[in-house]
Amino acid sequence: MNNTIGKLPFILVSPTEGIDPALAENISEAVGDFFGYPVKVSPLLQNIDFAFNSDRNQYNSTIILASLADLAPERCLKILAITDKDLFIPILTHVYGEAQLNGIACIVSINRLNTDLQLSKKKVFERIIKESIHELGHTFNLRHCKDHSCIMHYCRSLDDVDLKSNQYCRYCEVLLSDAIISLSRDPIS
Ligand SMILES: [Zn+2]
Ligand SMILES: [Zn+2]
Repeated sequence: MNNTIGKLPFILVSPTEGIDPALAENISEAVGDFFGYPVKVSPLLQNIDFAFNSDRNQYNSTIILASLADLAPERCLKILAITDKDLFIPILTHVYGEAQLNGIACIVSINRLNTDLQLSKKKVFERIIKESIHELGHTFNLRHCKDHSCIMHYCRSLDDVDLKSNQYCRYCEVLLSDAIISLSRDPIS
């Protein structure tokens, strides 16, 4: 009998330098429970200084995503990078994360999710997980959802993040399962 366990597609959680390994582990557990895929933690890209923009004093997330995609190991289905650096895309002042729509890589920044020192660790972790599942949703080709409680709702502020649930709405749930089914028909190499 072939051992197929090591050959299953997996999601990779990739912490950049400065991210607490315990946080990366907790994120990987939550993501694995949510999507039902095996999850590995491995720092694919520790240093993201190449994406630093000195005019903005922020990191260009689109550039980071391209590098992550280039580094994807065999059988890696999706990459979720986690950073404590402040991210931007040129048209916005900042982003909590970015993803390649229907692609392999996404990234979440915890930089603006834990700015209030009064907040419990649990609350901050909830935000990180919501944003992680949101960005991974984009890699499964999900777009923004009008439903304010859906995890695919676009959030302009932390209030929006806190208001939305940690689940996809029924509509997005169907889109996600369709995407997962079509991936399983399409063996990745
Ligand atoms: Zn989004
Ligand atoms: Zn939705």
